[in-house]
Amino acid sequence: MENINRLQKEKCTGCSACAECCPTRSIQMLYDDEGFLYPFVNTTCVNCGKCAQICPVLSDVAAKGSYPENGYISVARDQQISFLSASGGGFVVFASWIIEKMNGIVFGCVMDSDFQVFHCSTEAIEGLSEMQGSKYVQSDVKKTYTEARNFLESGRYVLYTGTPCQIAGLKCYLEKPYPNLFTVDIICHGVPSPIVFTRYINWLGCQYHRKIKSYRFRNKTIYGGSYIIKIVFQDGKILYKNPMKDIYYRSFLDGLSFRTSCYNCPFSQPNRISDITTGDCSTRSLYSKFLPFPAVSSIIVNNLNGETLWAAVLDQFDSMEIDLEEEIKKNRQLNRPCEYQKACKRRLEMLNSSQFQEIAREISKNDSFLMKIYFSICVSIPQLYRKRIIFYLKKFTSRWPSIINLIDKKTGSKKEISEFVKK
Ligand SMILES: Cc1cc2nc3c(=O)[nH]c(=O)nc-3n(C[C@H](O)[C@H](O)[C@H](O)COP(=O)(O)OP(=O)(O)OC[C@H]3O[C@@H](n4cnc5c(N)ncnc54)[C@H](O)[C@@H]3O)c2cc1C
Ligand code: SF4
Ligand code: SF4
Ligand code: SF4
Repeated sequence: MENINRLQKEKCTGCSACAECCPTRSIQMLYDDEGFLYPFVNTTCVNCGKCAQICPVLSDVAAKGSYPENGYISVARDQQISFLSASGGGFVVFASWIIEKMNGIVFGCVMDSDFQVFHCSTEAIEGLSEMQGSKYVQSDVKKTYTEARNFLESGRYVLYTGTPCQIAGLKCYLEKPYPNLFTVDIICHGVPSPIVFTRYINWLGCQYHRKIKSYRFRNKTIYGGSYIIKIVFQDGKILYKNPMKDIYYRSFLDGLSFRTSCYNCPFSQPNRISDITTGDCSTRSLYSKFLPFPAVSSIIVNNLNGETLWAAVLDQFDSMEIDLEEEIKKNRQLNRPCEYQKACKRRLEMLNSSQFQEIAREISKNDSFLMKIYFSICVSIPQLYRKRIIFYLKKFTSRWPSIINLIDKKTGSKKEISEFVKK
């Protein structure tokens, strides 16, 4: 029998299912030189073959996903929830239902005060705020698959949330379906390295001569958008940052800093592994009269379990059925993985060797002029004409889709946007 060494490194998603299932504990998840976790098999391996049999990539579990049944554009009615979430707040609504109505446990991704990003569980509503919001870093699932199985075996309801590869890892690790398990995955662009992220945070602190207390990737408190970074320093000072000028965030948005498996991701396709898939609704402009917010979710119901979960919380959303085919077409990671570009190798090398200053220089050299033009469109042109210009920009420029999307999302006042441009 063979172990997981037969999987090529570039295909391994780092889901940890192999390490969790090994009966002799012969697999350790260790960081490679790019700062991503990979399994390492030690000499105690007895070649039982279990890890290879469980591995979601080797067993091609992505091909066994189900084609979604329905999709909805949605935002949580409770504004406190939608305001603090990355998009429409679906996660907190689903999770609250599991805890309050089903006396269940929720698993999700948190970032601690040392900027370590990992999965953990909570049985309390108060525990959800840490899981709320997107962390654009690969999360370490640690021992959560085993924990989840123990709860499931004891008859408790479990909601497990994460990237599609993590949901696939959990399901393969469990080996059998559980009627008391619900899973929600995100539409996933890709994940950058956790070690690079912590190095970046340290570097950023040095730039501002302050220690960073918290870093939030998506903040909605200013400028009416949802992609503004909020950095809180230890001395209480707060900095709102333009993501296009943040080296780490910009590399993420441009798809230049992901784990190698993300560029070949078997889960970036319409067939889904989870019960419900959530993402930023890419066809929201078709429904802007119904939900005129910059950040709204698409909630995609993949199977009967998903229907049960959605039906239980439906009244807590403003929502409307969408043209699912159109959403699948427009939301890129619902139909194909992020493209590996020539620039990825160089950017990854620069990030790995902490050449943050050099990346900043490259970014500002390459398109600061273009950025100024784009942002001045936001400031000086009335909404009606702006929409038209953005429409043509989208049509004729393919190199800077994330910049255009960012402008597209802006709904802040003229004054707010001018302040944003100045920063
Ligand atoms: C790395 C990453 C890439 C994404 N790429 C896209 C994309 O290309 N297109 C798109 O439409 N949407 C993408 N999303 C999803 C989107 O940003 C929202 O997370 C999603 O719509 C859920 O929003 P919400 O308001 O319901 O929940 P929120 O409260 O905003 O998010 C919390 C949920 O996200 C999970 N989560 C947060 N960070 C991570 C992480 N690092 N790893 C695993 N799970 C995490 C939590 O466990 C929880 O389930 C991405 C999210 C992440 C984390
Ligand atoms: S083959 Fe068996 S013993 Fe060896 S690492 Fe895999 S699961 Fe563990
Ligand atoms: S994809 Fe997951 S199960 Fe497969 S080798 Fe990598 S970490 Fe192990
Ligand atoms: S892009 Fe694919 S491999 Fe990468 S984190 Fe997302 S689901 Fe996993």
